[in-house]
Amino acid sequence: MNDILPQNAVIWQYLEGTVRRVLQQYGYGEIRLPIVEYTDLFKRSIGEVTDIVEKEMYTFEDRNGERLTLRPEGTAGCVRAGEENGLLYNQIQRLWYAGPMFRYEKPQKGRYRQFHQIGVETFGMGGPDIDAELIIMTARLWRELGLADQVTLQLNSLGSNEARAEFRAALVDYLTLHFDQLDEDSQRRLESNPLRVLDSKNEGTQAVLKAAPSLQDYLDQESQQHFSQLKSLLDAAGVAYEINPNLVRGLDYYSKTVFEWVTTALGAQGTVCAGGRYDGLVEQLGGKATPAVGFAMGIERLVLLLEASDVTAHLSVAPDCYVISEDSLQGILLSELLRNQIPRLKVQCHCGGGKIKKQIKKADDSGARIALLIGESEARNQQVTIKFLRETREQECIPQSELQSHLAQYLKNQE
Ligand code: ATP
Ligand code: MG
Repeated sequence: MNDILPQNAVIWQYLEGTVRRVLQQYGYGEIRLPIVEYTDLFKRSIGEVTDIVEKEMYTFEDRNGERLTLRPEGTAGCVRAGEENGLLYNQIQRLWYAGPMFRYEKPQKGRYRQFHQIGVETFGMGGPDIDAELIIMTARLWRELGLADQVTLQLNSLGSNEARAEFRAALVDYLTLHFDQLDEDSQRRLESNPLRVLDSKNEGTQAVLKAAPSLQDYLDQESQQHFSQLKSLLDAAGVAYEINPNLVRGLDYYSKTVFEWVTTALGAQGTVCAGGRYDGLVEQLGGKATPAVGFAMGIERLVLLLEASDVTAHLSVAPDCYVISEDSLQGILLSELLRNQIPRLKVQCHCGGGKIKKQIKKADDSGARIALLIGESEARNQQVTIKFLRETREQECIPQSELQSHLAQYLKNQE
């Protein structure tokens, strides 16, 4: 579990701000959900035989003996909230949320025990058009963030529950014949959750999978049609994708469309955004059948990509100007005036007194581009001295009344 310090938080803010803007463009509403839910909710939605439920949940009993879990993902809680608040049945919803998720995993680059997601869930739309809209929206987001050339889209269809059950049986038959060539994890999964074997990174298992039956051959007609319409929509919108027949998700509730945006820049933790359709989940959790599709982005992984790119090079916590004064009242009043006059200006006012020379050192340390100084003579004459801290340029002493236009011009030149 990581601390996020101010110089890193500016990248988070850039990311979150951009996502929020794009979601607004598409008419999404924010939903804020609790971090703790009943353990049972996750067992019933994610599935008992998944990595998350088997070994990754932070579960505890509260004082009343209730079994609670720190949410490992957001979809289950979102469906629970939608159901409790009457948002789902017979309605169209486009919702999003952001916040921490918790999984007891082996920490490594791009994989943490408290991590953060921005999740998007839509309800009441069963056609391929909303699947396409979601994916097109994520493609826009990568463009806005300057990450478009770093991620690629993988697509698959899991078909209906019945189609998947048929495929699962065929897969188990095939893999059983090659049991000895499978890695240990896959041998175990063959019993508990055979579709997850498709996801194995083990080379031996991958080799066996080359000749395995393919889910595509088992797709029911409706899923096939849904999938081909989705592909046409993406083609028309100019969103490139790769069909990955082995793309299955680590959660049980998906059907039909699944997708992942992946990058090669982060080693094994390459998925930055993953989602799909889960038409059965609302009913499974006790509501009336409601089609649904959504995705979640891993913020830490996107931040890692952003850190390595020049788009965020200009982001900084440093103030634009640092205000220094002999008499601190002068400094505070000038700072307030500037914040009124130029609201986007970041003004840091020196607090704690001290000699002017020491204050100038602090101004320099702050990273500010300019220091504004009101010494004794400036105070007497209603003036202010502008010192340029990041360029070789003579300081200027001007009337305080001219400072606003002076700074506005300076900022304009810097852009
Ligand atoms: P992975 O295959 O990488 O373990 P997952 O299938 O478990 O991912 P999802 O539950 O689909 O992940 O979560 C969506 C996204 O959240 C992932 O694509 C990833 O970007 C991010 N994510 C998942 N687990 C973690 C983690 N432990 N630390 C950081 N980010 C994570
Ligand atoms: Mg995982």
